[in-house]
Amino acid sequence: MTKIGILGAGQLGRMLALAGYPLGHRFRFFDSASDSPSSLLAEQITADYADTSALEKFADGLDVVTYEFENVPVETVRHLEKIAPVYPPSIALEKAQDRFVEKSFFCELGIPTPKFTTDLSKGNEVRFPAVLKTRRMGYDGKGQAIINTQADLGNGLEKRISGYETDELILEEFVSFERELSIIAVRNKSGEMKFYPLIENHHREGILRLSLVTGNISSELQKQAEEYAKLVMDKLNYVGVLTIEFFEKDGQLLANEIAPRVHNSGHWTIEGSVTSQFENHIRAVTDAPLGSANPLGVCGMVNLVGTIPDVEFILKIEGAHLHLYDKEPRAKRKLGHITFVEKDMESLQKKIDLVKEVYELF
Ligand code: AMP
Repeated sequence: MTKIGILGAGQLGRMLALAGYPLGHRFRFFDSASDSPSSLLAEQITADYADTSALEKFADGLDVVTYEFENVPVETVRHLEKIAPVYPPSIALEKAQDRFVEKSFFCELGIPTPKFTTDLSKGNEVRFPAVLKTRRMGYDGKGQAIINTQADLGNGLEKRISGYETDELILEEFVSFERELSIIAVRNKSGEMKFYPLIENHHREGILRLSLVTGNISSELQKQAEEYAKLVMDKLNYVGVLTIEFFEKDGQLLANEIAPRVHNSGHWTIEGSVTSQFENHIRAVTDAPLGSANPLGVCGMVNLVGTIPDVEFILKIEGAHLHLYDKEPRAKRKLGHITFVEKDMESLQKKIDLVKEVYELF
């Protein structure tokens, strides 16, 4: 039995614990909010992430600490690293928390990424249209604006991004991509790695709505994504699940961002893969052998955002795996998801069409 501490008690933490209990592990959560999706699952310390005495109380008796979101302050992780092993390592958080650091890291490793600059007066190094983003704290499309011309820069447009100073912004070339794809990879302490198949992601208003594992990804593209994930994990001496989000353009992958954690686009792995991303993360941070990341069929995951459709209707759909996170409905909030594991794309599409009868997907 290993006692695992998780920073963040949202739905990702909840699914990590649900995957870890069958392996005989125990959990403790730390979060700044008390009404979290994990609070009924295990003990929780509720305090600010800067509260060192609360962090010490949290870490007391833990064998290992991990986290479920990438905006955990690096200082929090550094403080905990003095008391217990923390995986993934804090260096991964440092790379993922600042888009400029992250994109520079991709360049250093030779991983293609959209052109970018932080010097807005030199916006012309980046072709327009471009995307202006906050370097830090942006997620689900928050803190972003499309910029059409150089003249738009400094015209107050950046103020649309909630009062951030210009030196905290990054300008990226707008990529008219064919698809958005993500790879979920996992590495344990001994250096063993597994890779899930590339996932096709569809967003609305910057929020993930639908993830598909169709089996129609070329082996070249899969190999390329795995090589990039391996480069990142080796460089960071990474332990745990790592996600890289890509744009696919002209058959090439351009890395958009990394998430040093289990990822929303991997929820299908709970029922759709031999070993889920959550179980493999737990295996990795406890230095256990990793499980197969092979898919069990053609998979689809519908995110339930803002509202929950009629539960009875959903449960009557054959093969629907419904997950609800025990969260109060609120606009743009991720409240749950539904996974289907089917034999082919046609039957998956039929199931998704049924969901659409009671839930507005796009
Ligand atoms: P991000 O917060 O970087 O993941 O961006 C959220 C979403 O905005 C992405 O999933 C894309 O759909 C879109 N997006 C972000 N950056 C770009 C870009 N450089 N070009 C085109 N679309 C983008």
